[in-house]
Amino acid sequence: MGTGRRAARPSPEALLTHLAGGRQERLTHVHRVPAREASPAPWPEWVTPTLYAALTQAGLPSLWSHQLEAAEAAHAGTHVVLSTGTASGKSLGYLLPALSDVVDGSLAPNGRGATALYLAPTKALAHDQLDRLDRLALPGLRAAAYDGDTSPDDRRWVREHANYVLTNPDLLHHSLLPGHEHWAPFLRALRYVVVDECHVYRGVFGSHLAMVLRRLRRVCARYRSYPTFVLASATVADPSVHAARLVGMPVRAVTEDGSPRAALTFGLWQPGETGYGWRPEPLAPDPAADPAADPAAEPAAAELPAARPRSGSAPSRRRSAVAESADLLSDLVAQGVQTVAFARSRAGVEVISAAARSHLRELDVALGDTVAAYRGGYLPEERRELEAALRAGGLLGLAATTALELGIDVSGLDAVLLAGWPGTRASMWQQAGRAGRAGAESLAVLVAADDPLDTYLVNHPDAVFGASVEAAVLDPENPYVLGPHLAAAAAELPLTEADESYFGSSMVPLLEGLSASGVLRRRPTGWFWAEGDRPTDRVSLRGSGTTLRIADHRTGRVLGTIDDARSHTAVHPGAVYVHQGDTFVVVSLDLDEGCALVRVGDPGWSTQARSMSAFDIVAVDRTRQWGPVGCHFGDVEVRTQVTSFLRRLPTGEVIGEHPLDLPVRSLPTKAVWWTLPADLLGVWGVPEAAIPGAAHAAEHAAIGMLPLVASSDRWDIGGVSTAFHPDTGVPTILVYDGYPGGAGFAERGYEAMEQWLTGTRAAIAGCACLAGCPSCVQSPKCGNGNEPLDKARAVALLDLTLDGARSPR
Ligand SMILES: [Zn+2]
Ligand SMILES: [Zn+2]
Repeated sequence: MGTGRRAARPSPEALLTHLAGGRQERLTHVHRVPAREASPAPWPEWVTPTLYAALTQAGLPSLWSHQLEAAEAAHAGTHVVLSTGTASGKSLGYLLPALSDVVDGSLAPNGRGATALYLAPTKALAHDQLDRLDRLALPGLRAAAYDGDTSPDDRRWVREHANYVLTNPDLLHHSLLPGHEHWAPFLRALRYVVVDECHVYRGVFGSHLAMVLRRLRRVCARYRSYPTFVLASATVADPSVHAARLVGMPVRAVTEDGSPRAALTFGLWQPGETGYGWRPEPLAPDPAADPAADPAAEPAAAELPAARPRSGSAPSRRRSAVAESADLLSDLVAQGVQTVAFARSRAGVEVISAAARSHLRELDVALGDTVAAYRGGYLPEERRELEAALRAGGLLGLAATTALELGIDVSGLDAVLLAGWPGTRASMWQQAGRAGRAGAESLAVLVAADDPLDTYLVNHPDAVFGASVEAAVLDPENPYVLGPHLAAAAAELPLTEADESYFGSSMVPLLEGLSASGVLRRRPTGWFWAEGDRPTDRVSLRGSGTTLRIADHRTGRVLGTIDDARSHTAVHPGAVYVHQGDTFVVVSLDLDEGCALVRVGDPGWSTQARSMSAFDIVAVDRTRQWGPVGCHFGDVEVRTQVTSFLRRLPTGEVIGEHPLDLPVRSLPTKAVWWTLPADLLGVWGVPEAAIPGAAHAAEHAAIGMLPLVASSDRWDIGGVSTAFHPDTGVPTILVYDGYPGGAGFAERGYEAMEQWLTGTRAAIAGCACLAGCPSCVQSPKCGNGNEPLDKARAVALLDLTLDGARSPR
């Protein structure tokens, strides 16, 4: 299918050389992922004959070593996490044991001797899985999706008859667990729980899932069932640690990928300040590009010189990753190279597709129509049409948000562009893995966005391709998450002290607090839910707490919602707020009603909130001394007040500052902070008057760089710096989790502090700008209008900090 068209494709290296053209300095690195040889495995004998026959009917897939290893472990009742690359066939690892048992169990007198529960983070993924199962037409298998779209009649059928249920954590939390009596026969027979895409469960969402899975285990134990957990994950650091934190029990990791893979050429790209100079010339096919070429030949990674900082005047802002990716996409499509460009936002997807279409039309009117945008939320027919056009080759370019919400199959393309770092290495490999079809070599290019992390990464390939993978963090002990789930658990089955085995040692003190406030009632047989409503209605797994409505000021129509935590900065009176591509001006903000009223329309300026922040140190959990520098992790209370906002023209010019009257917000959370003696800072070249600017610049860059070691993004975390803190008595820099009770990011920062701050220093020192720019020390979310910032002395401050790390006292 279409392989003839593909055979005459230029090699990935030739394409990359062509793209770099006269812009060699923008291609900062080329990494080559060598081809991998297959490691086939025999089919296990315990696979039930019906399943084996159905798989044979569907064209028996080869079995690879990692699939066998995971399947054997799960079949033997060992909790297991399978963490291998995209398209490595992870699902066969859990389908073999789960389907074998479910099908055999269908012969039991009640027809349900064994059941399985599959959890996906999105509805679309669960439905894709269900389609796959349906196509097997496996006798005895009654698989069904159970989600927000399932009708009441269908729900009843699923509860009473299905033996393989596909759902999501939200439904488990809101429906299955609170109504577990209706699920008794299903739960009694529950043999396997599959948690797919488990790297998605990180931060507060991860903490919530960890609690939901503990509640599930507890309810199952009530029905005397002890299911085996099988987790599937993209490649993350320490998958067994992450999986064990999620399920609350030891989990064995399978990480050795036995599936074959063609070579991938991966370019790192940093946009310049000027346009790309888009002038595609047709590239001659590479006669040497033969997919059947010797896969064992592994050319060494071609290391190109890094972009050299320019002397002279300060550079202006770099081009955006989106604009640069649009040019690269146009160029690749003009070469006939089928390419998908992933952007971080829907707005980015629009810009890339519109710009690429217009570029290509200049070349050839018809060529413009070979590029499309994919924003998600499409009807199934539209998705199938898009897939068909990609397969037939009529569609050459696609701009899309992340693959997870795609709901379409875009694998097997020639090239992938990543417009901006997708957040984690796991996502990066997942997106890059969309390229590569039938043994043909493929190309991926990461285009850096104009921020410190992206800039650092494209100039430090080791951080992208080396061993230091970020950890997927979550904190199963956050009391702000645990408390509401304990209330939910008490409503499911009264809690007793023995339940500490699920919820840990902080359970009893928390239960006593919940009893004191009247939420729970203590009786001799345990703690009971004491209120009229359902406790699960009060917790959303996806949000960090309450949300505010955004409504049209005349009609009252609700246009969207916003997290309460962001409301003061984003929807204060007078704010210009962009919601899903539409622009509004906020007329009023009613905090008691939880509603912002807005008027539709773009006034021609943007707004930026200004705020004041301070913090109190509540408790120090851990401390380490780096010479004269003190590093700490613990509980803090961060107080923030939004005091005014600026109006800015698109040129950046400020046309007015307007005071606001908003209350102080208090956030109890976890933080990492470090303290520096003021006199030593003077010795290291940071005089007293320069400390605020140096500390502020270091704080911004440190926030931007925390995702290097923890899978957070900069919007999950905040920071405060001060030249004198009343609790410490010295200059102090604090980085905190932006969620009540913390989310695990700051803790991970404390654990990997030397790596984190070394990266931060390198990001600042390596930036070619003179006085600070968005690629190093400026922050898009600064409440102080990015003032004061002292780039050079931030480097000196970090030198002093890290000097202590190398000679700890
Ligand atoms: Zn800079
Ligand atoms: Zn700031």
